Amino acid sequence: MLIAGNWKMNTNAASAVELAQGIIQESADAAAVRVAVCPPAPFLSGVRAALKGSRVRLGAQNMYWADHGAFTGEVSAQMLLSVGCHYVILGHSERRQHFGETDGGVSSKVKQAVRTGLIPIICVGERLNHRKTGKEQQVVATQVKHALEDLKKIQSPSSLVIAYEPVWAIGTGETATPEQAQTMHRFIRSLVSRQFGKNFASGLHILYGGSMKPSNAKDLLRQKDVDGGLIGGASLKSEVFGQIIHAAQEVQQG
Ligand code: PEP
Repeated sequence: MLIAGNWKMNTNAASAVELAQGIIQESADAAAVRVAVCPPAPFLSGVRAALKGSRVRLGAQNMYWADHGAFTGEVSAQMLLSVGCHYVILGHSERRQHFGETDGGVSSKVKQAVRTGLIPIICVGERLNHRKTGKEQQVVATQVKHALEDLKKIQSPSSLVIAYEPVWAIGTGETATPEQAQTMHRFIRSLVSRQFGKNFASGLHILYGGSMKPSNAKDLLRQKDVDGGLIGGASLKSEVFGQIIHAAQEVQQG
């Protein structure tokens, strides 16, 4: 089980460290759960220092696919690795929606992350109109297909993570029902199985994201194919995030 917090464009240098310290405390007795935090890029170093010696891992919210060069404003996988990142969120719907990220771009980023040893948390998910017209699986299948394109050499399912985040549930307070989440997670696992085989697919972490909070976390995390959560709003308060971590711990321990 992996519980990852996406802080988005929130916190400042001091409050990011404070939040990280709170999360270390909250997660100290939840050894069965992997915990990660993804602060804004300027605070990665400060948060890394705060996380030193803890089990909480560091992730970034985005990166560019080139090694280095004239790409003003971008950060590379190597830069993220050099400040201690373990994970990088890629293809988040907010990046697709506000910054024009395409499936092709996400695919290039995923390849670069995997090549350099960063674990991409690849976000996929349909919009409300897709779900209303019964196209949710078609849309997600296209996103997954592109994101995993040309990753033939990948051996271990721990080299990547997929997050199913229905766009209509992100930051809206609306959540997919546990059944909707399970159906899509099982579908995603079947797509991965077709490309990488059954063993790989069964070992892959598929996270749910979209207004996960303490009141709904357990029901979502109990689903067979839900292996954790990517949490936005509810990751900004350590006690609230801690409750989700503990829900995961309880589910994990049966
Ligand atoms: C997210 O941005 O990845 C997310 C799931 O946000 P929220 O939990 O706020 O819906």
